Amino acid sequence: HRLKKYYPITGGLLGRTIGHVKAVDDVSFSIQKGETFGLVGESGSGKSTTGRTILRLLEKTEGEVRFQGIDVHALNRQELRALRPRMQYIFQDPYSSLNPRVRIGEALGEALLDHGLLPQAEVRERVLEVMALCGLATYHVDRYPHEFSGGQRQRIGIARAIMMNPDFIVADEPVSALDVSIQAQIINLFAELQEQRKLTYLFISHDLSVVEHLCTRIGVMYLGSLLELAPRDELFLEPLHPYTKALLSSVPLPIPKKKRERIVLQGDMPSPANPPTGCKFHTRCPYVKDICRQEVPAFREVSTDRFVACHLV
Ligand code: SF4
Ligand code: MG
Repeated sequence: HRLKKYYPITGGLLGRTIGHVKAVDDVSFSIQKGETFGLVGESGSGKSTTGRTILRLLEKTEGEVRFQGIDVHALNRQELRALRPRMQYIFQDPYSSLNPRVRIGEALGEALLDHGLLPQAEVRERVLEVMALCGLATYHVDRYPHEFSGGQRQRIGIARAIMMNPDFIVADEPVSALDVSIQAQIINLFAELQEQRKLTYLFISHDLSVVEHLCTRIGVMYLGSLLELAPRDELFLEPLHPYTKALLSSVPLPIPKKKRERIVLQGDMPSPANPPTGCKFHTRCPYVKDICRQEVPAFREVSTDRFVACHLV
């Protein structure tokens, strides 16, 4: 709720703070138990920072994060550590977070032992069980990270999260580095695990076609702000914000029931250190009016569960 994550910009001889990068700038949304909430936007829009601040892998600047009623940023170290297993983060490239000298079986068991979740004698059995669940051959348990393909590594990343028996997973671009054919397999794995284990996901992607199959609701971010939030079908069939329309212009419609307006995005995303005044999208919006340059459009509910920040909607 009203989450902000600012990074100071320092300058001058004294290294004083001369401004802030507003990586996450007053973002509010809620995720229901058992749903998959998609967060989309171009790189640099603040999606990962939002995901990491929600799990308190980063400290917030302002605002509040509630997880099952718990104020996550108010916990002390010990309380946070106790909560950690229930909320897990999956990275785009799990390889970068795997120690190349540690066998996969050990790497998967590590966190379980760290948190004292299982006695040592039961860890290996649990590792094999979760590997199988995640589509990894259990006879690979003693291999090293470099012996796995990209798709298998992402299965390892997923297995590592699942090991902890979480309720909530933030998956940050988990298929972006994979071939399209492998992407579908990994997305299916996410869906299967969700059904079996009643998981809740925050699924981050720059690619709308990736979130389309998985997500119940989708939020669209730009320069640290949410510009639109809607149930999946409504967003795809009737996007309201010009930026969402632009993102969707490059995604083919499965059933061309309706003709969608096409907007080609012009120019690059401005620097988050120096965002445009008023509506942050105004420098690239084909509908820009005077008011857009001056006044920040409120992020408001325009119909049930549909939110949009645009003066023209
Ligand atoms: Fe475009 Fe104005 Fe709407 Fe921003 S507020 S998206 S500039 S029409
Ligand atoms: Mg990112």
